[in-house]
Amino acid sequence: MSDDCVFCRISRGELPAKIVLEDEEALAFRDLNPQAPTHLLVIPRRHVESVDALEPSDQALAGHLLLLARKAAREEGLSEAGYRVVANIGSEGGQTVAHLHLHVLGGRPMSWPPG
Ligand code: AMP
Ligand code: ZN
Repeated sequence: MSDDCVFCRISRGELPAKIVLEDEEALAFRDLNPQAPTHLLVIPRRHVESVDALEPSDQALAGHLLLLARKAAREEGLSEAGYRVVANIGSEGGQTVAHLHLHVLGGRPMSWPPG
């Protein structure tokens, strides 16, 4: 837990967010600055800095986050057309919030490679 981490604060209900799914371990909410018609963020409640900070003991949590991303995508109606799940890691990876999050993006065709 981190007192001033924006995503920890969302997890604790101290900052508003449009939450679409939540359970004891994780939550999914709408990105404030959406880059696609549907843009969700999936985060663990526990403060983990990034995918790179995951430990072998976090295996179940890592799987849980992916399955929550899948569930949220299904509920948003993205499964048939397809969607993207991406994690930015560190400064060159484009990470701006240092609390692990999976972006779930859909509702338009995605290009590759990313910028
Ligand atoms: P990243 O650049 O991969 O670290 O992604 C951080 C994401 O968090 C960006 O897409 C931001 O728009 C989003 N974001 C930052 N603050 C908030 C917030 N308070 N509520 C929802 N999304 C946020
Ligand atoms: Zn945090």
